[in-house]
Amino acid sequence: MDLGIAGKWALVCGASKGLGYGCAKALVREGVSVVINARDAQALGDAARRLGADRGASGAKVIAVAADITTREGRDAVLAAPGGPGRDFDILVTNAGGPPTGDFRDWDRDAWIRAVDANMLTPIELIKATVDGMALRGFGRIVNITSSAVKAPIDILGLSNGARSGLTGFVAGVSRSPIAARGVTINNLLPGKFDTDRLASTVAATASKSGRSVEDVRRAHQAQIPAGRYGTAEEFGAICAFLCSVHAGYMTGQNVLADGGAYPGTF
Ligand code: NAP
Repeated sequence: MDLGIAGKWALVCGASKGLGYGCAKALVREGVSVVINARDAQALGDAARRLGADRGASGAKVIAVAADITTREGRDAVLAAPGGPGRDFDILVTNAGGPPTGDFRDWDRDAWIRAVDANMLTPIELIKATVDGMALRGFGRIVNITSSAVKAPIDILGLSNGARSGLTGFVAGVSRSPIAARGVTINNLLPGKFDTDRLASTVAATASKSGRSVEDVRRAHQAQIPAGRYGTAEEFGAICAFLCSVHAGYMTGQNVLADGGAYPGTF
């Protein structure tokens, strides 16, 4: 299927590896030029080279901006990337590392502020910086990478359950504002368990909390997923690219769960 977005510009945050990289890769393969972002300049540069090798003859550009997206300076840097489109992105994929696992009794105000900053306020700032331009030009796609924890909370991820629910409420409102009639969609993409470094760290935390081995925890996880396995970043990226496509223009304000069937509800 031609997704109809070749020649567009996307900003993909948290994209040196994992789910963000999967989204950038799927978009570049569709001929979308990308500004990718992460903090570690070397890993990001390697990711940009891999994406460049993947773009085929599409002419898509790949620009890497190493910065902490949770800071104002970091956001300013990606929104003014040399050779990029400035703030005139057609597609925005918000993402940053998830908050640490733990027990809420151990989290002070600063821990909460960091989580809310990374997983709620940063996406909102990026939406604010780009959405009106998208509406003026009559096309925009915003995908926020959130978590299945928004739908089914995970006990050791209280910071994620809380902060991402705030973003979800905000998106529910703004996606249905007048921008909806101007070709702009905003959706959240909720990963269940995908085999990335982030998953490896939450598996390690569960293993150490429960005294089981990492392999035991992985096996037990996968046995609970109807698909019988973890998801891949490529699968996640393909869903993201579809949400960014011209074909998904009538789909907005949704929370799209990709979890191999793990969530047990009918809806
Ligand atoms: P990952 O493999 O750890 O990758 C995270 C990416 O984000 C890396 O490129 C990382 O690079 C970048 N990043 C982290 N903090 C950043 C910051 N402050 N500014 C800019 N870039 C930043 O994680 P993932 O599995 O892809 O997860 C992506 C998101 O989905 C996370 O929020 C995670 O909590 C959520 N999630 C994942 C799963 C899963 O199963 N994988 C499930 C539910 C939710 P640098 O460290 O170099 O900055």
